[in-house]
Amino acid sequence: MSTVPRHRHAPILPGATLGVLGSGQLGRMLALAARAMGYRVHVFSPGADTPTGQVADHEHSAPYEHLAAVRAFARKVDVVTFEFENVPAKTAETAAAEVPVRPAGSVLHVTQNRLREKTFLAEAGFPVAPFRRVRDEAELAAAVAAVGTPAVLKSAGWGYDGKGQAKVASAAEATAAWRGLTVTGREAEEAILEAFVDFELEVSVVAARGLDGAFVHWGAIANDHVDHILDVSVAPAPVAPSIAQRAVEIARGVCEALEVVGVLCVEMFVTRGGELLVNELAPRPHNSGHLTIEAAATSQFEQQARAVCGLPLGSTELVRPAAMANLLGDLWQGGEPDWPAALAVPGVKLHLYGKQDPRPGRKMGHLTALAATPEAARDRVLTARRALTAGR
Ligand code: AMP
Repeated sequence: MSTVPRHRHAPILPGATLGVLGSGQLGRMLALAARAMGYRVHVFSPGADTPTGQVADHEHSAPYEHLAAVRAFARKVDVVTFEFENVPAKTAETAAAEVPVRPAGSVLHVTQNRLREKTFLAEAGFPVAPFRRVRDEAELAAAVAAVGTPAVLKSAGWGYDGKGQAKVASAAEATAAWRGLTVTGREAEEAILEAFVDFELEVSVVAARGLDGAFVHWGAIANDHVDHILDVSVAPAPVAPSIAQRAVEIARGVCEALEVVGVLCVEMFVTRGGELLVNELAPRPHNSGHLTIEAAATSQFEQQARAVCGLPLGSTELVRPAAMANLLGDLWQGGEPDWPAALAVPGVKLHLYGKQDPRPGRKMGHLTALAATPEAARDRVLTARRALTAGR
């Protein structure tokens, strides 16, 4: 459809059309950044009136398994990227037969399954907590013997935000955890048992790799989780420079080993001994990187657009310390949150994702605050979030 050159390494220039698989808030913020640069955006997902679709030029609504629809979508765009990593491999392959898919489907294949991901990391020499594969009760017993307790049993596929996870405090609890582990309503067929890490802090490094292999990153970001869901992120993370540097080197190594073209986030534990252990990879912009919209010269979303279009990557300089607080559906329980009260806090910005149904635990939006120090930014963003419900 387009006049854009099809040579694999020719940049895909503004005016061209970006195709996005997945239609949540990550796609929404990518679409907003891409449209600011003059790109058109088409989104493909099973949903309609989605967070991404609301701000895209065109919303294709069909199941990911509907390969004829995927093909038709891919033919109308110049490059395809993801905002959701559980897109089936066949979907990515079908799109890749028509246009460049960045990052490649092979990256998704590794990262959409915890067992493949951890195995890749361990074999490539990246530090991870001890883990074992579990497919039945015999393997479970062997895994408990090898890994010890406490441990965490996680479904291998389709897990995010703590879904399909159970803490196993003792060997006696393991069987019940295995039997109770359900994933999207089904029984888990394959799981991973990993040692419970008594961490001091969780950090992430959001990074990007260009078509030419250039690597950039936004440094270590500190993350607090509540009920396995990200709650607050702070940048820069309050860790020793040597730890931040090691975290960045891990992210660089992962991006290179996977030959990522696009944005990738590495979530890590910092142990009490100052060791780093990789917990999870996400081959796309990440919730902990939302603060780059206000805090950095180039946001993770603009960077994803640049990377997948084969453009030079932008500066990731952090202009000011920042903190981000997620807004979950729970905040709506007593009625509409008090937006003016939060926006009255200086240095605070509001992002809402256009979701209609504020279910508890659902990510509806976030607040970002900038301040002179990371601690002050954190105080500000938490003050603003409390103000949303203070008048009730
Ligand atoms: P995940 O879905 O694997 O990203 O896990 C979500 C959150 O659960 C992590 O950010 C941690 O706070 C916690 N968690 C996951 N795995 C472990 C582990 N092996 N040890 C301790 N906490 C964990």
